[in-house]
Amino acid sequence: MAAKKCFFGMKVDRQVDGDKMNPNFLKKVISEGGDGAAIAACMQCGTCSGGCTNIDRMDLSPRKLILMVQRGDWETVLKSESLWLCTSCYTCTSRCPRGVRPSDVIEAVKAIAIREGIQNDSTRFNQIFVELVQKRGILFEPELMQKYGGMEAMLEQAKLGIQLALKGKMSPFPAKVKDPKKFNEVLEKASQK
Ligand code: SF4
Ligand code: SF4
Repeated sequence: MAAKKCFFGMKVDRQVDGDKMNPNFLKKVISEGGDGAAIAACMQCGTCSGGCTNIDRMDLSPRKLILMVQRGDWETVLKSESLWLCTSCYTCTSRCPRGVRPSDVIEAVKAIAIREGIQNDSTRFNQIFVELVQKRGILFEPELMQKYGGMEAMLEQAKLGIQLALKGKMSPFPAKVKDPKKFNEVLEKASQK
């Protein structure tokens, strides 16, 4: 193993720990995240974490998450709650000086985590959300609430739901897309991809 270079006690090459890299994991994430996910270019400056709008709730900051992806630390990354707390606000991506696009990396890792069978409350919510959109082509919020939170959640949110319906902000009846056939064709194409 090559000796670590140090500069006044700081590791100089901390972004690329060759001995810990797992090229397969990196390749997999890049292929999920498209060309924009230039993960290896990360210089660990922390600008992404500094601007992250949800950092105080995350167990892995975007900077750390990118480092773990570079190192191929599957377990830490796939189990991280940060994946599900990221709101895709793109602040990190717009600020990154190296074009890493951390938000795309997080989306890519999320897709891998779902395929790997990682299960938690967020993946359950995502699954119900997708199933309902597939069913009608458009989300019917009360149905989502009932399937996700059960009767208890329905009763808890009933007052708000009635207020929204009275103001015309939410229909009490399920809607449908204008052209369900076309919508299904688009879904079919997307799933083939
Ligand atoms: S801002 Fe970009 S280069 Fe800096 S730590 Fe975050 S991902 Fe890496
Ligand atoms: S996209 Fe996610 S990781 Fe990036 S700043 Fe927003 S919440 Fe944080």
